[in-house]
Amino acid sequence: MQSTIDAKQVLKDIWGYDSFRPLQAESVDCVLHRRDSVTVLPTGGGKSICYQAPALCLDGMAVVVSPLISLMKDQVDALRACGVEAAFANSTQSPDEKRKVVQQIRAGTLKLLYVAPERLLTEQMLTFLQSANVSCFAIDEAHCISNWGHDFRPEYRGLRTLKERFPGLAVHAFTATATESVRDDIVAQLALDQPKVLVGSFDRPNLVYRMLAASNRSQQILDVIKRHPNESGIIYCISRKEVESMVELLQSMGHSALAYHAGMSDIDRKSNQEAFINDQCNIIVATVAFGMGIDKSNVRYVIHSGMPKSIEHYQQESGRAGRDGLESECVLIYSGRDIVVWSKMLSDGNSEFNEAAKESLEAINRLCTSATCRHRSIVEHFGQKFDKENCGGCDVCLGEIEMMDDPITLSQKILSCVVRVNERFGAGHVAKVLAGATEQRVIDLGHDKLSTYGLLRESGVRAIRLWIDQLTSQGFLRRESEYQTLSLTDAGKRLLRRDGAPQLSFSAAATSRTKSSRTTSTLTSWEGVDRELFDDLRRHRAQIASELNVPAYIVFNDATLRDLARFKPSTQKDFGNIRGVGQQKAERYAEGFLALIAIRPDRTDIGMRNTTPSATTVDTQNSNSFRAFPMFQRGESIEQVAASMERATSTIWQYLQDFLRFNEISDCSPWVDPAICNRVLSQKALASQGKLKPLYEHFNGEIGYEQLRIVLICDQISSQQ
Ligand code: ADP
Ligand code: ZN
Repeated sequence: MQSTIDAKQVLKDIWGYDSFRPLQAESVDCVLHRRDSVTVLPTGGGKSICYQAPALCLDGMAVVVSPLISLMKDQVDALRACGVEAAFANSTQSPDEKRKVVQQIRAGTLKLLYVAPERLLTEQMLTFLQSANVSCFAIDEAHCISNWGHDFRPEYRGLRTLKERFPGLAVHAFTATATESVRDDIVAQLALDQPKVLVGSFDRPNLVYRMLAASNRSQQILDVIKRHPNESGIIYCISRKEVESMVELLQSMGHSALAYHAGMSDIDRKSNQEAFINDQCNIIVATVAFGMGIDKSNVRYVIHSGMPKSIEHYQQESGRAGRDGLESECVLIYSGRDIVVWSKMLSDGNSEFNEAAKESLEAINRLCTSATCRHRSIVEHFGQKFDKENCGGCDVCLGEIEMMDDPITLSQKILSCVVRVNERFGAGHVAKVLAGATEQRVIDLGHDKLSTYGLLRESGVRAIRLWIDQLTSQGFLRRESEYQTLSLTDAGKRLLRRDGAPQLSFSAAATSRTKSSRTTSTLTSWEGVDRELFDDLRRHRAQIASELNVPAYIVFNDATLRDLARFKPSTQKDFGNIRGVGQQKAERYAEGFLALIAIRPDRTDIGMRNTTPSATTVDTQNSNSFRAFPMFQRGESIEQVAASMERATSTIWQYLQDFLRFNEISDCSPWVDPAICNRVLSQKALASQGKLKPLYEHFNGEIGYEQLRIVLICDQISSQQ
């Protein structure tokens, strides 16, 4: 029987990764022990490795069911680049290619075979596979089997026959779709036998979420793009028309942007998609038709120029950012009008605008207009717990949202204006009256004579609209009829009597005071990276990719490239130790990349010497140290960091030293009690020439060496500031 230890070795040798991510080991175990399973991990969570790694340990060949040819091709290319014998069987292959695959299967050399369900389920294929040495079945994008899901594919339904035709083999399902009903449906439809169901956390900590009330959408979009020069991004628009005008605008400003929507020919769509995947174009502007089947790992930002239909859709679409685990930005620009547009589209179109669709729209609207941590809201929406107080990765937690001081009085003003206009007008009009607009219609209706006219003049229409949306999503106001007229709910009536707790906020970004600075986490992911070298390495990667005719990230993903430009390995062995470099890639690519690294002056060292106050430089060879930085930045405790990195606390104390020195931080209060700090500082003269023992003894060993060292480092940094 194979063990998880073998799979771990495979993970290191083939992919160059040291450890499994959360739930991967459990999922791998199911495959190794031939137990049916369902693994639910968010996009980028690393589902493929869950069946690929154990498939290499098992005798025989794993059959992977995948819905799209483009996905299969990507996966097979990526596996081959790591030296794994993998192939696909689909309709695009020539008879010759098909014959070759059959030969490989007969010879027993193929480890993974990717196949679309309709092809797998042909009698010919099933019979053939029954005579071959199949180790297990992996069903990718398994939610396609459920008509509760958003990508139902009838051809997936036939997969239930696998358990009948291959009674001895386990079937493993993988999906990123979170809802329980879909999960149950997968188990039932595939007729899984007492499956292990593994559900990962839906949080994507490397994504920074920002929800902006629309003010000037194009400008807001341009602001995001400006933060990501020469990086890949996706912009989602609700309509084709909007896609086209956005592409035109971006192109006219010199950005490399292409369109993708259902109204284009297949050929145009495909060529634009490929240009994006291969890094020949940076930005793709698309309707939601785009994305399924995109495995591109280095999408650095996803912008929604309008509100998506549901939180489920938002999670899927924004989830296409940062698959490589590096920090990426997800910006959603919303306005109250988006709901109206969607309601209309959904009720006019072929799908019925039913209660469930309406509830989904309300849920995403609440997410946008509330001032609750975005990570928390999304995770809790999927029924999971979120235990961080401050996620450090959303506009709310980053302090970009301004909470209104006296929300009750402010709400009263708004609600009484709704009453004054007899609950017969929409949000736009109410906002204008409160803002004291001099528009003819306001005057004609005599609304300039109302006591609430101009009551919120200083705030402006935009802010008032936003507050109206917030009061609506918090249940104090409701929108009714096709004119979206506002009226008070019972809770709203109580609030007029100051009974209730509304939360009103205003996004700093909406006032165009968008923080242009990157978040701390983004900075960290570039920390120590020689940017010029990174660009050189990127060009080299592009060249290799085009010779091999594969997307660039299949050669190495961005995370690996940054580590190369950060740690600058000089030998083949060091090169092989970089995360994401397996044996085959080390052999193939070391020479070219090492040559480029060798001709770079060691800027990192120079930089360190200039910026670190201490003579001891930061241990730049230690990538783990850098990985701890974002956690320290969020003020996480030594114990927390140790637990998430699975390292001893003594190691984490050392990382903390690196962190403080590197960032020149002189405040150690998150890690050392200020009272202890003061006690140590009052006696610091005892620690002459860096010897801590006298200090340690002075406190009778009550204060550990680690804490003493941290206090002294911070003191030194502060004396140099
Ligand atoms: P999913 O299919 O769940 O969206 P992928 O299988 O495409 O995710 O994996 C996302 C990225 O994470 C890939 O670049 C993959 O190589 C990387 N990855 C997967 N497992 C690990 C691991 N244990 N350590 C580091 N990187 C990993
Ligand atoms: Zn947050």
